[in-house]
Amino acid sequence: MSQITKQQIVESVPQKGFFGHPKGLFTLFFTEFWERFSYYGMRAILVFYMYYEVTNGGLGLDKTVAMSIMSIYGSLVYMSGIIGGWLADRIFGTSKAIFYGGIFIMLGHIALAIPGNIAMFFVSMVLIVIGTGLLKPNVSSVVGDIYPENDNRRDAGFSIFYMGINMGAFISPLIVGELMKTSFHLGFGVAAVGMFFGLLIFVLTKKKYLGLAGMHVQNPLQPSEKKKVFSIFAIATVIIAILVAIAIPRGWLTFDSFIAIVGILGFLIPTIYFVVMYRSPKTTAVEQSRILAFIPLFLASVMFWAIQEQGSTILALYADTRTNLNIFGYQISPAFFQSFNPLFIITLAPIFAWLWMKLGDRQPNIPQKFSLGLLFAGLSFIIILLPGYFGGTDALVNPLWLILSIFVVVLGELCLSPVGLSATTKLAPAAFSAQTMSLWFLSNAAAQALNAQLVKLYTPETEMMYFGIIGGTAIVLSILLFAISPIILRFMKGVH
Ligand code: GLU
Ligand code: ASP
Repeated sequence: MSQITKQQIVESVPQKGFFGHPKGLFTLFFTEFWERFSYYGMRAILVFYMYYEVTNGGLGLDKTVAMSIMSIYGSLVYMSGIIGGWLADRIFGTSKAIFYGGIFIMLGHIALAIPGNIAMFFVSMVLIVIGTGLLKPNVSSVVGDIYPENDNRRDAGFSIFYMGINMGAFISPLIVGELMKTSFHLGFGVAAVGMFFGLLIFVLTKKKYLGLAGMHVQNPLQPSEKKKVFSIFAIATVIIAILVAIAIPRGWLTFDSFIAIVGILGFLIPTIYFVVMYRSPKTTAVEQSRILAFIPLFLASVMFWAIQEQGSTILALYADTRTNLNIFGYQISPAFFQSFNPLFIITLAPIFAWLWMKLGDRQPNIPQKFSLGLLFAGLSFIIILLPGYFGGTDALVNPLWLILSIFVVVLGELCLSPVGLSATTKLAPAAFSAQTMSLWFLSNAAAQALNAQLVKLYTPETEMMYFGIIGGTAIVLSILLFAISPIILRFMKGVH
């Protein structure tokens, strides 16, 4: 099947039928809507599930441990995208990867929905890490496949898809957050049902709407390579098994050493990516220059996501323990705050799109947009230190502070996130284009690997210093990035 051409794929997808876009976008939009519905619904309550007392239906873990686990989990979810992308590309094609991914994710949520113990929780984590790695990068890359070359609807297609992501992320915390008051497991159950709907839509509509898209294996593994790959896999498994067997009896494999390992991998993997791309004989001199330009942008992105992703760890804890949740006599769920980020994204994205269009050539260039992203992220942390500064760290805070902080981070997200993926596609060498989606998600993986360490430094007593130092660092980096943006631009060799 590998001889299917791009042309044949595009011809097999009905080119109209979803807001003037190919019908396949309907399938991808709703599959991803439901997948993000389940992911963000689960994440909205997971941290509470971990640290709430057993008598309140939780696991009774320490708060810091719970936030570190959230971060490591988030990191692994995006790291596994490399394997998901590779499997789709070389073994079973994107369509099957999405389907298997959805099944794993659904089973993962079911494992959490069944009242159980901490072992069940880790089983669920493994299933969701594998499942999301298979589904997320692949469903996004099929979006690019359904348009003819040079079709100017493609960017708009990605924006619609991005809306789908955020609509799913907006609705689920509202439902799941309410259910958690009765039982966490009920909330996780709803996440499982959401993924089931996503799978149903995918299976029922893909043949008609997606045609051949995702049905072929891009770069199938040759029989000679198969042997090599399987031996590498076998050797790696044996080495890991030996290391684990040595480490466990000696007490080396602790929770802390595990998060340290993921922390190292979070940075090691992208470094390897950069070195391999740079040194590959398939990479031209112009492409090498673009890789160099991409490094500071990647680092800025890591800093940005480190702050953005703390929205579901530190700021979730803040919502639960530092915020006044009693509104006119009604006790609101702390999980509701997770809906504000996607809500602001949905409402502001069209305004940003309009603004960039209006500014035309005068709009900030890519490095400057990244710099703005960092600036707003830094400011959002400065804002959230203010209530502690004015009212002390004991008094309960007006929820509007939290909402304002989330609003400001979203301003940054809209400068950085939508451009980030397209910048990655443009700056990564052509020979590596299949992996650009995974490469972009690696910045989030590195960010959350970093967060697993950072969150240990947070306590309500030191919160001002915590938010101040991290927010301040982001602002300094933003200024630095802005200052070197002309140099980065030069290295980008015409990409803008
Ligand atoms: N929150 C977005 C999503 O779930 C963006 C993640 C990222 O680009 O790192 O798709
Ligand atoms: N804004 C995030 C993303 O684009 C969603 C979230 O954090 O809830 O999907």
